[in-house]
Amino acid sequence: MTLFSLLDKTARRHPDAGAVFLGTEQVRSYAGLRSRALRLAAGLRARFEPGDRIAIFSENCPDYVELLFGIWAAGMAVAPINGKLNAQEVAPILQDSGSRALFVSRKLAPGLLAIEGGVTADVIQIGSAAYEALFGAEWEGEMPSDPTTLAWLFFTSGTTGRPKGAMLSHRNLMALTLAHLADMDDPDPGTSLLHPAPMSHGSGLYIPAYVARGARQVIPASGGFEPGEFLDLCGVHPACSVFFAPTMVQRLRRAVEAGAPRPANLKTVIYGGGPMYLEEIKRSIAVLGPVFVQIYGLGETPMTITGLRRGDYKDAPDRVLGSVGYARSGVEVAVVDASGKAVPSGEVGEVICRSDVVMAGYWQNEAATAESLRNGWLWTGDMGALDEDGLLTLRDRSKDMIVTGGTNVYPREVEEVLLTHPQVEEACVVGVRDDEWGEIVVAVLVVRDGEMPRAADLDALCNARIARFKRPKRYEFRNELPKNNYGKVLKRALRDELNR
Ligand code: ATP
Repeated sequence: MTLFSLLDKTARRHPDAGAVFLGTEQVRSYAGLRSRALRLAAGLRARFEPGDRIAIFSENCPDYVELLFGIWAAGMAVAPINGKLNAQEVAPILQDSGSRALFVSRKLAPGLLAIEGGVTADVIQIGSAAYEALFGAEWEGEMPSDPTTLAWLFFTSGTTGRPKGAMLSHRNLMALTLAHLADMDDPDPGTSLLHPAPMSHGSGLYIPAYVARGARQVIPASGGFEPGEFLDLCGVHPACSVFFAPTMVQRLRRAVEAGAPRPANLKTVIYGGGPMYLEEIKRSIAVLGPVFVQIYGLGETPMTITGLRRGDYKDAPDRVLGSVGYARSGVEVAVVDASGKAVPSGEVGEVICRSDVVMAGYWQNEAATAESLRNGWLWTGDMGALDEDGLLTLRDRSKDMIVTGGTNVYPREVEEVLLTHPQVEEACVVGVRDDEWGEIVVAVLVVRDGEMPRAADLDALCNARIARFKRPKRYEFRNELPKNNYGKVLKRALRDELNR
């Protein structure tokens, strides 16, 4: 049940196959990666204990892959931190996780100096002499055999509050891997997983599935997402798969619309982690082709609750394209009322799920764990509706729901309508306090170059598609929407600002 066993099996079967690439250059074969991971495991076991948390604060880099498997082989848990966070955001994660060691990239190391009170973990700079000195003889001792062993302390992106550490075990990540292999007609041997998205989140979670199939892990030289560089890499590596947050899909789509060549080797774009609007997915399919698969999930169920497979997109009606798909393999999904009773199909309630992917709880946060995990079910905080065929359509997070004049409005429904206006590029709908209505619906819009949309036209669009009470009472125009480091719109920040 250990994640290292996935690498071990592939390395024995395909020792010479390329495992890790930096840009176009091979850095490690599978045999080389296995050996580095085992040597690192030995070094870690000489200094730390099984069960210790080991943090990684780095942009994407080739060493990330050996660090993950080395830490897992040593029976320790990895606590990846998004390389885009600043020192003030890193400090509480380091502190909460109680990490014994912190692997940091050369680029990000200076930022640690800004952490008040310093860092208590042993800081090891990736690629330094001290890093290389850790590599001993290959570890031959025991590996974690208990599937409940903590493998990944996954910090949520903090959209709704302070990031929480979801405890993901080897079993959870193995269930994610098996669901991925079952649900995506991909990866096959001879494929590549590109990593323009942070390996501390979605992109990293897919590494075990692709290692299991002997795929290449390709890290862009920039360590992140540059559309031009990404397209070039798709021209070099075979059958490319990638995980993208919806904003990255939009950026790639725009780059191709602006004249960049459509990548021939781009086989699969896995998107999720935030809402993908109907207009955007339709345009993206038209521009990039039938390469999309959707995933819906949370860090607490590592991105695995429902999804759309490639075949679901063929001639798909809006009802399917605008949904988050069907339950993933090995996952049970229900939509319930506040008492936990299933609501009739088509009605909105909270999405809950039960599966081997569901975390054991939040790290050292019993209150939050008790709120999220009830009788073996994870309460997602997302509102949605299941149709009779098991297709799940998300409305919004319960925290983002607007109550105006006693009636619920799900912002996403209004945003979808506003996005059909040709001049509207991005839309965010929030509730603003109001003496008469309790809350009123306010739309904050980012518009394309050219003519400003008129409020009367936006009203007319809404009147044609949604009930009068859902129509924004006010439109605000901005150059950009506030977003976190994963490109997710910070509705909370916008709401707080407008309510001030
Ligand atoms: P925090 O929990 O700290 O506020 P976060 O919820 O943004 O941060 P994640 O676990 O990364 O942290 O995000 C999960 C949420 O993202 C889900 O609850 C859901 O609201 C949203 N989400 C994920 N995938 C999709 C999807 N395919 N479509 C719409 N929303 C999605």
